[in-house]
Amino acid sequence: MLFDDVPFSACLGAGQDRGVPVEREGSLLASFCADREKGSEAVSPVAIVWPCPLAVDAYVASGRDVGFPRPDCPSCAGPLVFWSGYRRYVRDEGRCRKIFVPRLRCAPCGASHALLPAFTLAWRLDTVETVGTVLAEVAGGGCGVRPAAERAGVPYTTARGWVRRFRARAGELGVAFAAVAVELGGQAVTPPAGAGRFALAAVGAAFAAAAGLPGWRRLGAWRFASAVTGGRLIAANTVSPWFVVGRRRFMPPIPP
Ligand SMILES: [Zn+2]
Repeated sequence: MLFDDVPFSACLGAGQDRGVPVEREGSLLASFCADREKGSEAVSPVAIVWPCPLAVDAYVASGRDVGFPRPDCPSCAGPLVFWSGYRRYVRDEGRCRKIFVPRLRCAPCGASHALLPAFTLAWRLDTVETVGTVLAEVAGGGCGVRPAAERAGVPYTTARGWVRRFRARAGELGVAFAAVAVELGGQAVTPPAGAGRFALAAVGAAFAAAAGLPGWRRLGAWRFASAVTGGRLIAANTVSPWFVVGRRRFMPPIPP
C-alpha cells in the first residue's frame, strides 16, 4: 500500500477527496530517502505517465491486458521490466473505478516506477479531464469554484484545492508549457492578462503543437498535460515539462 498513489480508502469517504494528502507525498519522499540511506532498494516516487488513449471504461475492462508501453528508465535510461503493480481508484463522472497500475523496475539502477495512464494525475482521485475542466472554467474566468465543482460532481473543497494549486503555479506552468509549444514547433504564446489565463493558453498552445504529431490529437489537451508533467500538473513539486521533454519522457502514443 505504501506505493499506491491513491489508496483504496480514497473512495470510502463519501464526498471527500482524501486521495491526496500532502503528508502522503512527504511520506513517500521520506521513505524514498530512508531506503536510499539504508542502501536497500531505491523506490522512486516519480510516476511515468503514458499517453493512454483509452476511455476509463475500456481501461478498466482490459485489466492487466492493456497494451502497456515499456519506456526507458527516466532516472538512468536503462531498460525497464514489468514488475508487479497495484490497484488504485479513479473517479470518473462521479463514479469510482478501480484500475490496475503496473510497476516497472530498472535493473541497472534499482528504481521502480508506477506507469500511470494519462487520464490520471499522480495522487489525485479524479480524472485529469475533470480537473482540467474545472481549471479551465475557473482560472479562465468563466465562473467561480462552486458552480464549476457542482457541474463536475466533485466536492467544493476538492475543486478549490485544485484551483489554488494551479493558480499558485500558473506562472511557472505558463512558461514551461509555452516552451514545450515552441519545442514542438508550435506558436509562441502571447501571455494574456493574468497568470491563470497564461497557463491555460500555454497548455492549449503546447497541445495544439503536439496534436500535429501522430496519435496525440485524440488524447485531448488535459491527458497531454498529465503525460508531459509526469502526472504532476497540480502537484506541490513539479518537474518542469521542459525538463521532461528534454529527458525524452515525451512518449509517442501507441498507434490504434
Ligand atoms: Zn534506471
